Amino acid sequence: MAKNTKKTDAPVAQAPRGGLFTYAPAPESPAAAGDIATSYGHFIGGEFVDSSGSEALKTVNPATEQVLAEFAQGTGEDVDRAVAAARRAFADWSALPGSERAKYLFRIARIVQERSRELAVLESIDNGKPIRETRDFDVPMVAAWFFYYAGWADKLDYAGYGPNPKPVGVAAQVIPWNFPLMMLAWKIAPALATGNTVVLKPAETTPLTALRFAEICRQAGLPKGVVNIVTGDGRTGAALTAHPDVDKVAFTGSTPVGRSIARQLAGTRTKLSLELGGKAANIVFDDAPIDQAVEGIVNGIFFNQGHVCCAGSRLLVQESVQDEFLEALKRRMSTLRVGDPLDKNTDIGAINSSAQLSRITELTDAGEAEGAERWSPSCDLPGTGYWFRPTLFTGVSQAHRIAREEIFGPVLSVLTFRTPAEAVEKANNTPYGLSAGIWTEKGSRILWTASRLKAGVVWANTFNKFDPASPFGGYKESGYGREGGRHGLEPYLNVEARDV
Ligand code: NAD
Repeated sequence: MAKNTKKTDAPVAQAPRGGLFTYAPAPESPAAAGDIATSYGHFIGGEFVDSSGSEALKTVNPATEQVLAEFAQGTGEDVDRAVAAARRAFADWSALPGSERAKYLFRIARIVQERSRELAVLESIDNGKPIRETRDFDVPMVAAWFFYYAGWADKLDYAGYGPNPKPVGVAAQVIPWNFPLMMLAWKIAPALATGNTVVLKPAETTPLTALRFAEICRQAGLPKGVVNIVTGDGRTGAALTAHPDVDKVAFTGSTPVGRSIARQLAGTRTKLSLELGGKAANIVFDDAPIDQAVEGIVNGIFFNQGHVCCAGSRLLVQESVQDEFLEALKRRMSTLRVGDPLDKNTDIGAINSSAQLSRITELTDAGEAEGAERWSPSCDLPGTGYWFRPTLFTGVSQAHRIAREEIFGPVLSVLTFRTPAEAVEKANNTPYGLSAGIWTEKGSRILWTASRLKAGVVWANTFNKFDPASPFGGYKESGYGREGGRHGLEPYLNVEARDV
């Protein structure tokens, strides 16, 4: 439940404060999510099967705290069965011509498009993110990812990894809760295109769209065992990533867990790619177009409630424009509508879980205790569910926890700089290196700054732009390996490291 916040009774979208327009509620129907079973087992060898254990977990709607379904806590034995099913399927799947594998991927992409409303509503209910985002971003991205990698399946000879590159084998894939279906697509599409079979574990707070995706695999006629889905928490994840018969581990999640998996696999022949946390700087120079930059900053940190690994969570603004910029930013933040994720007008939905809400609360409390100044627009929050107001901290120093640690919530820490060199130094002063943003009207300054930033992705005069053709991944503690584009094929191919 939201802390220190004014409550209203129902999860309603808020009218903009001080704005010219009021918005009538425009709720999407929860019924569009289709049938949600009361309990789920795993998807192994093309069938929905019971767990060998009796422990069940619950997934709740974070906007209402209502239980949506129970699902199995995968045991070591369940993981064994799933890996064995993937191993059995590998010989035939990898022997298919790429053009045949592509047909399945195209078919999955088309079905995702056909069932897009259902998937968007289901994702919104299970995750808490606004329907506007699942409808216009997550689900279209999922389809785009399958279309894109379907296109690669019969062109692997030309990907730059040598002639006739071979798949790795069985891939173990563990994903987080912030973009559940999109993370699944980022993992499964390149793995299948390159001829691997997979066992995927979704996060324990958002298993429903992965289980629905299992139905889509059946609908597409995907051969049994090519995709297997085992649910459960970190214990199931650890059993999967440590399994002796997997050839490749792909993990997206927090840096501490990524580190433990890297330790686990050190010295083995298992391939590993890690997509971990971030603490991105969004740098605004004094010549930036203010209104455009404000939109980019808002998108950078409040998109998906800030549950974004590449979120622009540190705003670095040039001191000479600080006052003007922050005034415009606060004005814009005051128009953000927080509330019912299924309302099409909602900008900021529910925080994914009570545990994540506690973490955001702890870090923002630390920000105040360490002397930063906190500001949020006045904003009524629903009485049930997990909510957090869009929040801005000024007077932040580089030593503050809110400047160093990933908050993974709708919280922006503002720092200032005087010279471009100082901006770069502060931007790089983090153990992470996933993304960064630059706002200036000068192309030369963009190039100068971008070439000095230690970040896997640098956006200029925009933020949070994704495309399946564009590689994404980190430096330093943000991980290694790339997802997306031609580069995203490499983790799933048996190629020796080479300069490509
Ligand atoms: P998390 O690391 O707690 O969990 C991620 C997944 O790992 C879950 O499925 C979880 O069950 C599983 N897991 C937990 N312990 C495990 C273990 N010991 N062995 C194997 N699997 C284990 O992270 P989270 O809180 O779910 O996700 C948020 C984190 O993910 C943030 O740090 C965020 O930055 C990161 N993230 C990164 C990217 C990226 O592309 N770099 C994308 C999305 C999220």
